[in-house]
Amino acid sequence: MLKLLSNAHVYAPEDLGICHILVGGGRILGVSRRKDELAAAGATECDLDGCRLIPGFIDGHTHVTGGGGESGFRTRVPPLPLGHFTTAGVTSVVGVLGTDDTTRDTRSLLAQVRGLREEGLGAWCHTGGYHVPPVTLTGSVRDDIVFLDPVIGVGELAISDHRSSQPTLNELLRIASDAHVGGMITGKAGILHLHLGDGERGMDLIRRALAESELPARVFNPTHVNRRKALFEEAMQIAQQGCTVDITAFPVAEDEDAWAAEVALGMYLDAGLPAERITISSDGGGCLPVFNEQGEMLQMDIGRSASLKETLRELLRNGRPLQTVLPAFTSNVAAILRLHDRGRIGGGFVADLLVLDADHNISDVMIAGIWHVRHGEQQVFGQFESRS
Ligand SMILES: [Zn+2]
Repeated sequence: MLKLLSNAHVYAPEDLGICHILVGGGRILGVSRRKDELAAAGATECDLDGCRLIPGFIDGHTHVTGGGGESGFRTRVPPLPLGHFTTAGVTSVVGVLGTDDTTRDTRSLLAQVRGLREEGLGAWCHTGGYHVPPVTLTGSVRDDIVFLDPVIGVGELAISDHRSSQPTLNELLRIASDAHVGGMITGKAGILHLHLGDGERGMDLIRRALAESELPARVFNPTHVNRRKALFEEAMQIAQQGCTVDITAFPVAEDEDAWAAEVALGMYLDAGLPAERITISSDGGGCLPVFNEQGEMLQMDIGRSASLKETLRELLRNGRPLQTVLPAFTSNVAAILRLHDRGRIGGGFVADLLVLDADHNISDVMIAGIWHVRHGEQQVFGQFESRS
């Protein structure tokens, strides 16, 4: 079951040049410029012919159960099948509950995460959802993180949004401290992943939490920070204070008061802000609703994991060097989520690998040493996925 990937242009995310990679037991056993150093009896060789090889995307915010439900029960989005992720180059996911943490709960989220694991994907989740008190399985955010293997943090807790519980500073701090201590006990991420809405208050609550508590800035992890241009300015400021901020790769219309993910990442990097503190997620399976002033939904779209590969392609087409933009999709996410054996290409890491073709499209996807996509064709199917 050994595989030798030869003549790959490896971005680890650093540019390592042309290398050869030996994969076995689901992990990368070795990376070398010399093929003879990796010689192993019985290895199947796959010549990548100089194509770029990058770590698989880690999507830190995806509604694996399906999100939505904001305009009646029929608007609940169905669960996402394996191929939704793998064909998008997503090799690891963190599932979250959103607005609807009432008809969906931590139990159903955990079941979905375990199902995706059985199908080969790297999968974790946060406990809680938009609301306070957070929905949990054990009755406590801290206990969920400590005792439930896939649970690594809490969120997406909503602030500055008409759908949120309008939490007070004290409520926010109590939940953040449970996440922080749960993370300390287990070595898990222990973050409070915060959904930012369109509200004018923006990141006010986060700034107050940083100023008025002893909790480390890394615990506060806001997402959707590019949904308003002024909000993104705030995100760049709190990144300087130590928070990790998460851009969402949602579609942005030309006249919209929002930054497309590729524009936001470019602005952040050009501003010389700490490059390790920015990540990009898809909000896959979540709904993309447009509301009127009364909070009534006017239209709804569904987030797609494929928006990540489209964002990377845009960045590369705009001339951004791969090694500078790749960490936001891979190694930065692994670091903030404390997934220490993911997000990089190196000896001992899980063999989650993507092959890029000359047009910056993902042609092949390997997850834990198994080819899930070859030459653009899905090879491994989820239990209820149609092969046609
Ligand atoms: Zn959200």
